[in-house]
Amino acid sequence: MVKQNLQLGKVLLTENDIQKRVNELAQQISQDYKDKESLILVGILKGAFIFLADLSRKLTIPHIVDFMALSSYGKSSTSSGAVRIIMDLREPIQDQNVLIVEDIVDTGNTINYLFKTLKGRNPASIKTCTLLRKNPNNCKFKIDYLGFEVPNVWVVGYGLDYGDQYRTLPYVAELINIID
Ligand code: 5GP
Repeated sequence: MVKQNLQLGKVLLTENDIQKRVNELAQQISQDYKDKESLILVGILKGAFIFLADLSRKLTIPHIVDFMALSSYGKSSTSSGAVRIIMDLREPIQDQNVLIVEDIVDTGNTINYLFKTLKGRNPASIKTCTLLRKNPNNCKFKIDYLGFEVPNVWVVGYGLDYGDQYRTLPYVAELINIID
């Protein structure tokens, strides 16, 4: 019988790399929204919670945070393709400036679904920010603020999980499957 033996592999982004980039993104976003009347950061649970917490504390402009939870890949690393809202926003977003904050974009299915759903609620503007992106050639979705490109491997840490484990690592690492 083949036994799954998952282990942390190479560290792809150190704590320092991440903090530096989050600062840069926060500066850029603060600059871009400085003349707008409102900004709502919509964090996508659970994966974006640490990124959102760090990013929002570095913004120098007034803003509020809200959260949504979507169906995800679950424990496996293969996509079901279907996206569904598990928990919705608390407040309406009509006439507000919305910035969706995601952990990682792969095919773009999740963020595309979310973007269309929230755009249908008539915000004043809507943009997207993701910490990581895999497979830029497979993803047609345009991201406004991007932290890092990562290779096409399963990554964990800094909010990203595998079966709800590894989220609290301060760095992003590859998860590898050692076959015994
Ligand atoms: P997409 O819909 O763009 O194909 O996939 C995006 C979603 O899949 C992310 O929100 C995240 O939940 C999950 N995902 C994709 N790749 C990874 C990965 O390498 N690590 C983790 N933890 N989640 C991933």
